[in-house]
Amino acid sequence: MFIAHLPAGYLLSRQIAKSHPAKGALIATGLLASVLPDTDLFWFYLVSDRQSVHHGYMFHWPLFWGLIAALSWGLSRALGAHGAGSFILVALANLLLHLALDSVAAGVGWLRPLSTIEVNLVEVPARHNWWVWNFVLHWTFGLELAIILAAGLTLRRDLLRRRPATP
Ligand SMILES: [Zn+2]
Repeated sequence: MFIAHLPAGYLLSRQIAKSHPAKGALIATGLLASVLPDTDLFWFYLVSDRQSVHHGYMFHWPLFWGLIAALSWGLSRALGAHGAGSFILVALANLLLHLALDSVAAGVGWLRPLSTIEVNLVEVPARHNWWVWNFVLHWTFGLELAIILAAGLTLRRDLLRRRPATP
């Protein structure tokens, strides 16, 4: 998935944070987590010189994020920071959503490092010289556009609700 991670993260985070007193902070945490796995693109382009698929990196391993979430939850309990649980939950939910959406048109190793088997729901054929066109011109890109449209309409509605009524 290319451009719909942040909008998808907004749709998910606002649902999780719906009635939470720290709603804004939870949504912000969710938005950050929704794009966090793709920060491995810096490594992909700047360090490894595109030698391996970035979905193979640890930031695209669901079990890695599950372990980080479990350790964070354990640490927060040990420190008595009970309010951290909601933030860990919204972050983990968004991280897993990112990886689920990445699994639609590309491979994600849901059991890495235990197994190299990848989940790839739809195989996108290589028809164009520039690889980006293979994805942008494939029907699965319509899913991205639908998520962006839904998030845009939802954000607009949320902002209008927050606007104070004029006399
Ligand atoms: Zn990704």
